[in-house]
Amino acid sequence: MSSVHADIAILGGGMVGLALAHQLLERHPGLSIVVIDKEPEIGRHSSGRNSGVLHAGVYYPPGTLKAQVCVQGARRLRAWCEAERLPVLACGKVIAPQAPELDGQLDLLLKRGQANGAEVHLIDRAEFQRRVPDGLTASGRALWSPGTCVVKPKLVLQRLQQRLRERGVVFQLGTRIARVQPEARTLTLQNSSWAGHVLTYGYLFNATGLHADRVAQAFGLAQQCTLLPFKGVYWQLDPCAPFHFTTNLYPVPDLNVPFLGVHVTPSPDGSISLGPTAIPAWGRENYRGLEGVEPWMAVQFLGDLASQWWRNAGGFRRYAREQALHGLKPLFLKAVQALVPELRSEHLIPSEKVGIRAQLYDRRSGTLVQDFRLEQGEASTHVLNAISPAFTASFALADLILDQSTFTSI
Ligand SMILES: Cc1cc2nc3c(=O)[nH]c(=O)nc-3n(C[C@H](O)[C@H](O)[C@H](O)COP(=O)(O)OP(=O)(O)OC[C@H]3O[C@@H](n4cnc5c(N)ncnc54)[C@H](O)[C@@H]3O)c2cc1C
Repeated sequence: MSSVHADIAILGGGMVGLALAHQLLERHPGLSIVVIDKEPEIGRHSSGRNSGVLHAGVYYPPGTLKAQVCVQGARRLRAWCEAERLPVLACGKVIAPQAPELDGQLDLLLKRGQANGAEVHLIDRAEFQRRVPDGLTASGRALWSPGTCVVKPKLVLQRLQQRLRERGVVFQLGTRIARVQPEARTLTLQNSSWAGHVLTYGYLFNATGLHADRVAQAFGLAQQCTLLPFKGVYWQLDPCAPFHFTTNLYPVPDLNVPFLGVHVTPSPDGSISLGPTAIPAWGRENYRGLEGVEPWMAVQFLGDLASQWWRNAGGFRRYAREQALHGLKPLFLKAVQALVPELRSEHLIPSEKVGIRAQLYDRRSGTLVQDFRLEQGEASTHVLNAISPAFTASFALADLILDQSTFTSI
């Protein structure tokens, strides 16, 4: 069996994997890097299926990894997209309480945003109506984040891949890992021009998104964790509907769960999307119907959900009541109507777009993990829980991963 060597092996060609390759080359231009992805093209999972919102850094408690990287990451990715002349819609974001009792959360989010270095302002009803004439603020106040913008995620990924190829990064797509031997720093590859080849590496980064826990477990790590898939279904606003949105409109989220709630997002192409939901999926790649259903995973997931419900960890029952059933159109509509009261069922057009969040669940504590989590193994770093805002923060997150890894240089 012949062997190939790379200084760096990156498993997963999503935004996190590509940003890692980019930042590694910024620090060590001569490195040989191979990006391995099981799909024949990049962007088939979260990084190509998200809302494309570059979050400004308002939500995250100061001190968390998310807070550390979101503000910088958003600025850097936006500047990179602009330099590459990729579409960037500089539309800002309004966060409005959908019930009067949520008003107090605005002050908390304002404080968090300011502590994180994001530009964010409290606005009154008059300014809210000027920015979102068709929207509702239940308390008369809202938050305005002028720095939030929207990009086209697939275009960003494709351009980044192109730039990395130009700098010598090898993309080994449609390739699966048959065997890992961490102590020997080798991977045996399957299904590619390198089939049956052994890849030896100097250092490995696991950025496999929805499968990152399983890959980490093959390295003897993260045994107490599992990724739970939460599906994000979108709808499109009928272009003939009598509404006009020039900015993002988000609800005040339930800060106990890591989902931001269904929102209204304008795209650089002029369309308006509504969503995404955060409903349990019955497989990590269960995008539609029975496609990708994993029966054993589904049974375990139901058990994990039941346990969360029973213990009401992190106010889980509120999530179950308010978000888990948004796959049903009338309940989805009700959630959007809390933000846009005049919206009717006939204004919603089914959307092709659907994404699945790779949400980490810690079985030991019985909680959904809110922050990014990095685990260090033998000559390897494993990125678990690369949920939102990992796309936004990708360049800064990659720097943080490199700083915290045991990799220095080869
Ligand atoms: C519905 C939805 C909306 C979102 N909205 C936003 C948003 O507006 N803004 C934002 O910042 N974030 C958003 N996010 C989060 C964001 O999409 C993710 O944080 C980010 O894309 C994660 O990137 P990743 O590279 O870790 O994962 P992925 O993009 O999933 O990439 C992982 C890659 O690993 C590959 N892979 C998996 N297993 C293996 C294996 N064993 N061997 C080789 N390759 C493998 C996969 O094929 C995939 O290409 C959203 C997510 C969802 C689901």
